[in-house]
Amino acid sequence: MIENLPKTYNPKDFEERIYKFWNEERYFEANVNKEKEPFTIMMPPPNVTGNLHMGHALNNTIQDILIRWKRMEGYEALWLPGTDHASISTEAKVVEKLKKEGKSKEELGREKFLEAAWDWTREYGGNINNQLRKLGISCDWSKERFTLDEGLSNAVEEVFIRLYEKGLIYRGDRIINWCPNCKTAISDAEVDHEDSHGHFWHIKYPIKNSDDFIIIATTRPETMLGDLAIAVHPEDERYTNLIGKYAILPLVNREIPIVADEYVDMKFGTGAVKITPSHDPNDFEVGYRHNLGQCKIMNDDATINENGGKYEGLDRYEARERIVEDLDKEGYLLKIEDHENSVGHCERCKTVVEPIISKQWFVKMEPLAKPALEAYRNGELDFIPERFGKIYSHWLENIRDWCISRQLWWGHRLPVYYCRDCNEIMVSKEAPEKCSKCNSTNIYQDEDTLDTWFSSALWPFSTLGWPENTEELEYFYPTNVLVTGYDIIFFWIVRMVFSGIEQMGEVPFKDVFLTGLVRDEQGRKMSKSLGNGIDPLDVIDEYGADALRFTLITGNSPGNDMRFYMERVEANRNFANKLWNATRFVLMNLDENIISEKLNLENLEEEDRWILSRMNNVTKEITENLSKYEIGIAGQKLYDFIWDEYCDWYIEMVKPRLYGDNEESNKVAQKVLLIVLKDILKLLHPFMPFITEEIWSHLPENNEVLIVSSWPVYDEKYNFKESEERIIYIMKAIKGIRNARAEMNIAPSRKSKIIFVTKDEKVKSILEYGERYFINLAYAQDIEIEEDKEKIGDDNIQVVIDRAEIFLPLKDLIDFEKELERLEKEKDKLEGELKRVRGKLSNKGFVNKAPENIVEAERQKEVKYSDMMDKVLERIKYVKENM
Ligand SMILES: [Zn+2]
Ligand SMILES: [Zn+2]
Repeated sequence: MIENLPKTYNPKDFEERIYKFWNEERYFEANVNKEKEPFTIMMPPPNVTGNLHMGHALNNTIQDILIRWKRMEGYEALWLPGTDHASISTEAKVVEKLKKEGKSKEELGREKFLEAAWDWTREYGGNINNQLRKLGISCDWSKERFTLDEGLSNAVEEVFIRLYEKGLIYRGDRIINWCPNCKTAISDAEVDHEDSHGHFWHIKYPIKNSDDFIIIATTRPETMLGDLAIAVHPEDERYTNLIGKYAILPLVNREIPIVADEYVDMKFGTGAVKITPSHDPNDFEVGYRHNLGQCKIMNDDATINENGGKYEGLDRYEARERIVEDLDKEGYLLKIEDHENSVGHCERCKTVVEPIISKQWFVKMEPLAKPALEAYRNGELDFIPERFGKIYSHWLENIRDWCISRQLWWGHRLPVYYCRDCNEIMVSKEAPEKCSKCNSTNIYQDEDTLDTWFSSALWPFSTLGWPENTEELEYFYPTNVLVTGYDIIFFWIVRMVFSGIEQMGEVPFKDVFLTGLVRDEQGRKMSKSLGNGIDPLDVIDEYGADALRFTLITGNSPGNDMRFYMERVEANRNFANKLWNATRFVLMNLDENIISEKLNLENLEEEDRWILSRMNNVTKEITENLSKYEIGIAGQKLYDFIWDEYCDWYIEMVKPRLYGDNEESNKVAQKVLLIVLKDILKLLHPFMPFITEEIWSHLPENNEVLIVSSWPVYDEKYNFKESEERIIYIMKAIKGIRNARAEMNIAPSRKSKIIFVTKDEKVKSILEYGERYFINLAYAQDIEIEEDKEKIGDDNIQVVIDRAEIFLPLKDLIDFEKELERLEKEKDKLEGELKRVRGKLSNKGFVNKAPENIVEAERQKEVKYSDMMDKVLERIKYVKENM
């Protein structure tokens, strides 16, 4: 006996069990295997502090589809997971926790703080990996890595030292993004830009030894305390005579030079700009070109420092207010203009970020960016969709040196040591015992840690054991594809590419597949503050992981944002349900004895050849779509094939054979049903892994497990082009007939003769052959094929299809007795109405006294009812004649 599936599809019954089974049987694991070709994906490591959101669900579903497909294709498919230590965000969480306990980071000290951070990470971190498991992802958990684990930390130090020794890492004063609340440098990626209502303050700077002045406008007037020059464009005729002269900085009374620099935009504002080298990246460059030196006016907490004179100690915004007041009082303030500008906020704490000069460690980008750019131009690196390649190049062409030091404790501490006696800098993995220059033992390590992205930049090879030349590294590197959201592309992708080229001599991945954002129904970004986020775990709980996965990958194209509709999840759950029920039908009609018999192609009927041929072509198309990363298209094609062609057409077409007494025909139908179902499950497996594995386990004589079964391949022997054409023709005719009947609301129980009119010999033969389909699926009593319409009466429903016309005699479709009954009733009703109207109109009192429009209305009614009466009488005559 074949054991059938349970009656209802309930993903909760099996999703967890199946995941456990796959995992315990180690189907996700990939190992060096010289017999096979490797296929590798490195999972973008989510933050250890993170929780699963729709963006993760989308990216990971795509990666899982690719890895499952390649695994089935026979590759040694490695998908390596892990988490990122997320320095700033983890440190913030730990600080917050300590605060609740009444403790501070500083009180605790570095060592104790790090212990607390590890405790926190062990307890709360990595939640996301358990959540990802619910999605069904088949990554190799045995190779899971953490950016702060021993091996990866070693790789980080190694790269730091190598780059330092090549002169590509240096320590210097540069403008960086400073968060006055977190008190650390932060990367561009950690700055959120928000539009804000600000002002332009127009200020007069007097010219030394003259009554003249020059006007500048600024959005941050407090920074004037640090002004070291005024710059104008060298070709700006308004200012030619001022170049080389000095202006007097209001309130401060410092003499500052007026310099000419091409950086100034003549058309913008007054064409003169104040130069504050310590508080603006562009001014920093101008200051460097003109040797202006530095004047930093803020402390780490954004209060004004000793360089701010009487404003010392004030917070930056208090200082702004006071300075504007004073400028006004002393007659330097010309006007205040409203101005919309974009202000950078710390992603973590929302504090306004201050561009500020700071002594930090930097990676020199130009020599590293060049080969990364070349790799793209040479075609070693492909972007999907292509348009992102332009952004990648643009970013690399305009890259600035990368600030890599952070004033945080959670992370990779810089392998940098200083001599207290002679200030020598030493870079090494181990603490040096004595100064390499003066032999002093008075040595201390740099307090800073590295930008989190420094370690994630090494992810594609550090996770495989680099700097050791491991077998894994040799075999699995470079990886095949990186799948990530387009929102972080440049920071991370660029850094992985140049790190891969620099350390491994080869790009870390061939393809970069960028995914869009998952938005809500109205197209808004899902966010905590809007409260419009949908938790993937809730969706899985209600509809199952398969329905969620299918929803995420269909209905959108690579790199474009998608809208998430719960209705679509429901529809995809219904799709799963349809497949479930179709399988139940197949199993219910399956005779155990035929399973091991080989399918004899000689005995196939037309619909068998059609479905096998379609299956064969769909296999080819889907494989092609997947290789082009057209995952949504592949999913949609499968959906249509399964739902329409297999379930709605093929199963319906073979039902009479399954219930009939032609044993051979019955056997063949069963066999083909099963063969196609198996291929369907294989093709659908990467998209909907749970339901397919569950159904597969119920199919008889399946020794292998679906996840490691082999991917179907196109086979020329199943190419039945002519049968496809014939069945498709018949399907079109059936659809035409069904639509016509549906329009007239004809009950399925009413069968009719179907008359085809065609002179086309080929069509004739198709239709003749198709008789049983019309009887079975188009409510036909029988069919007739004519060459012309002569013998066909007038009363037909007519349908036109390619090369033929179809006639359905009305007398077959309509129950004349019932129709007569209905018509008699209609006649009685009309007689009553006519009697009433005519009575009124023959009443002289009414006709003469009632307002004209009312009398006219009654006359119109009489015409209408008598017209209707004529038609009813005519119809009654026709029905009686045909009964
Ligand atoms: Zn902050
Ligand atoms: Zn020394």
